[in-house]
Amino acid sequence: MTKPSANRVDALIVGQGLAGSLLAHALDSEGLSVAVADPGHGGSASMAAAGAMNPCASARYTAPAPLDLWLDHAVSTWQGLERRLDTPLFQPQLLCRLFRDAREAGRVKRQRRHPALARVVSAPVAGSPPGLSTAPGHVLIRSARVDLPAFLAATRQWLAARGALRERSCHPDDVAPSAYGISWRGIDARVLVLCQGAVAARHPGLRRLPWRLSRGEALYLEADDEWPDMAVSRGPSLIPVDGERYWLGATYGRELQNPLPGTRARTTLLASLEQLLAGTPAPRVIAQHVGVRPGSRTELPFCCRVPGKPPVYLLNGLGSRGTLLGPRCATTLSRHLAHGTALPPEWNPWGETWRSA
Ligand SMILES: Cc1cc2nc3c(=O)[nH]c(=O)nc-3n(C[C@H](O)[C@H](O)[C@H](O)COP(=O)(O)OP(=O)(O)OC[C@H]3O[C@@H](n4cnc5c(N)ncnc54)[C@H](O)[C@@H]3O)c2cc1C
Repeated sequence: MTKPSANRVDALIVGQGLAGSLLAHALDSEGLSVAVADPGHGGSASMAAAGAMNPCASARYTAPAPLDLWLDHAVSTWQGLERRLDTPLFQPQLLCRLFRDAREAGRVKRQRRHPALARVVSAPVAGSPPGLSTAPGHVLIRSARVDLPAFLAATRQWLAARGALRERSCHPDDVAPSAYGISWRGIDARVLVLCQGAVAARHPGLRRLPWRLSRGEALYLEADDEWPDMAVSRGPSLIPVDGERYWLGATYGRELQNPLPGTRARTTLLASLEQLLAGTPAPRVIAQHVGVRPGSRTELPFCCRVPGKPPVYLLNGLGSRGTLLGPRCATTLSRHLAHGTALPPEWNPWGETWRSA
């Protein structure tokens, strides 16, 4: 990693969730130095997420274009980070998508004609894979899972070992313009990059962006029975984490300020198992997580410069596709900061594309 010289760095990153961590690695790969401020990961979306990397994440099956390139880039980024951090992070994992009803089945049949989707979606499942509900469905063949808690922990260690981690909150109001760029608590940085997830939507300057925030709850389960090693989804998803543990989620709602897990979400999620698995599963709940998913109403990320001075950038709005979109956004922003290459106008909610829409 490029060592920060005394307290002068190229970028000060606020937030070390998925977005801030990916950006720190991408900037380092470009030879730029970073400091990252984050007091911990309380309430972070990345710690609540399954880490599933599904080509078509939502029930609407909207695919980012060009899907193949995004997928290739995400896979090679996660595999590169595994080597860099010497930590297992990336696991290809088939996902069986069970249809909720005949309408959804019909919609998928039509969408499968889309060339980008045809390459990631298998033919309909003939019979049901062992252990799964007998509902009709199909298999997403380029799915994977990224171990986000492991990625965040390993990145935190990597930053700390280089003196680049500040284990405290950085409020953008406490950041002052300086001759170099910006200054915060003795650190001078060329630019400030806000990677705060849903918290960013509370800032007066960012409140009016087209956010779509959803509070999600998820369970970690252990099961005595043999459960499938394939991920399965039908609204809620059941995702194998290792040989013994499974992630089951999520319930989504609008009570954004409530950080506490609730019994209603737990009951709803456990009841959903019967829709996903054959038989009557009786797992043990070993943990329940809450996080607010920072999405945008257009399903496009926010990856742009914030208008005005000092030089502040935003990397946010990754929605339900953090593991897929995050690598592309981090690489693009790091190239912009290192070489001045353009950022896509559609990632800028203050830009012309948005104003004229
Ligand atoms: C229940 C649930 C399930 C999900 N499942 C998936 C999935 O399977 N696959 C997928 O790709 N995506 C999934 N997502 C979405 C994914 O989690 C997000 O896209 C991604 O994690 C967002 O990362 P982020 O870094 O932008 O935000 P966060 O992970 O929320 O990180 C923000 C960080 O900023 C820090 N921070 C905030 N304010 C400050 C401050 N003032 N100073 C310093 N630090 C600060 C916080 O401590 C936090 O660590 C899921 C989300 C939820 C809620």
